[in-house]
Amino acid sequence: MELDNLYKKILECRKCPRLINTRKNPVMPRGILENTEVMFVGMNPGKVENNTGIAFTGKSGKLLNTIIDTLRIENYFITNVCRCWNGDNSPNTDAEINNCIPYLKVEISHFLNNGKNRHIIICLGKQADLGLEKVLKLKMETFKYHILDKNTIVGSIQHPAFILRNPGSFRKNLEFVRYLLQLI
Ligand code: SF4
Repeated sequence: MELDNLYKKILECRKCPRLINTRKNPVMPRGILENTEVMFVGMNPGKVENNTGIAFTGKSGKLLNTIIDTLRIENYFITNVCRCWNGDNSPNTDAEINNCIPYLKVEISHFLNNGKNRHIIICLGKQADLGLEKVLKLKMETFKYHILDKNTIVGSIQHPAFILRNPGSFRKNLEFVRYLLQLI
């Protein structure tokens, strides 16, 4: 599926009965998929993203930007497993994750076939791990990674919201992303 069609479909999506009542905007990702070697995957949007309609534009996004800027990651793509705010930032249900992951599958497929020399996918938190497990059939764990082939790595760090609440964890997460970036 072409990406333009994908995002049109997401904007019109009404698959989750609960979420179509809590969301204002299904969120769109940040970054240009065709132009990146690094893809971050979060779980679901928060209140700020619900208003802006763009992934990771709130406090968690600022923290993620700090990691990106510190490590000088020039081209990146940030997306979510579930695209609609659930009203209280609670975990999404399994049914909601299953409804939304076909969209993530399309993004990951475009990412892995975008012609770049390396592909690094980084999950942001345990809820995102769950989504990636469904898409890639991998067992994800925080601060662990899988090498899918010589050009492709999938790893996991803590969610930026957790890092904000636990500032002492910032360095460990930053260094793990740095480690993943130099592996391939
Ligand atoms: S979370 Fe995903 S599947 Fe559910 S309504 Fe929103 S866009 Fe559709």
